[in-house]
This record gives sequence, structure tokens and C-alpha cells, in this order.
Amino acid sequence: MLKAAKLYCTKVRIAILKVLIKANKPLSQGQIAQRSGKKHFDKVTIYRTLESLLKVGLVHKAFIEKRAWHFELADNCTESQCHPHFTCTNCGSTHCLTEISLPMAKSPHKGFVIHRQQVRFEGLCPACA
Ligand SMILES: [Zn+2]
Ligand SMILES: [Zn+2]
Ligand SMILES: [Zn+2]
Repeated sequence: MLKAAKLYCTKVRIAILKVLIKANKPLSQGQIAQRSGKKHFDKVTIYRTLESLLKVGLVHKAFIEKRAWHFELADNCTESQCHPHFTCTNCGSTHCLTEISLPMAKSPHKGFVIHRQQVRFEGLCPACA
């Protein structure tokens, strides 16, 4: 995965990708740090690594929750569209809706260029409904 994106396979990159693969859901930077063996990597290293993974498109920012961006692997997204996310208004949990694909919106106004479509739903999750 890293080789395809022309990134060096550093320990921290591999560790972060492994954490995201294992989690199979978006994680905040803090959660990633916790799960990647915090004694080896400091905050700055993890932040920079996430930035580099974002830049090459291996990782996407999924949504903001509790003022923190949550990161996930980009393998369930297409070039122009991320899979939608569903946030429960009762318990606050967010779910990836990887099986739903929505038609791309047309550019809203003259002069705006859409690069990526990200949709978020709100409602009740199965546990709360
Ligand atoms: Zn995405
Ligand atoms: Zn819920
Ligand atoms: Zn997701």
C-alpha cells in the first residue's frame, strides 16, 4: 500500500495503517496514538505521519467529532466521493455506510469546483431507534 503511494515504509506509517485497518472505523489522532504503542511515537510524529498519509490519499478525514478529526483508510472511497457517515443524535456514535453510493451533486454555483463529495446523515442508530 505504501509502496504504491511512493512513501517510505517507516515504522510509524506502518503502525498507523495497521491501527486503521484493524479498527475498521474512523479514529481520532488520540485514539490512533493510544492503539499504536504510545511509547514509540510522540504526538508530533503521529500528526506529521497522518498529514503525509492524507496527502497521498491513503487516509481520509472522515468527520469531526468532539472537536477532533477522525481518520480512516480511503479504501472504501472513490476518487471523487467518500462513503457517507451516519451519526446517531441520541448516543453520538458514528457509523460508516460503505454500501451506499450517492449521485454526485452538480457544482452549486458558478466558480465553485467540487473535488470530493462527503455526505453525513443524522438520525437514530439501530441501538437507539
Ligand atoms: Zn473517504
Ligand atoms: Zn445511537
Ligand atoms: Zn467511514
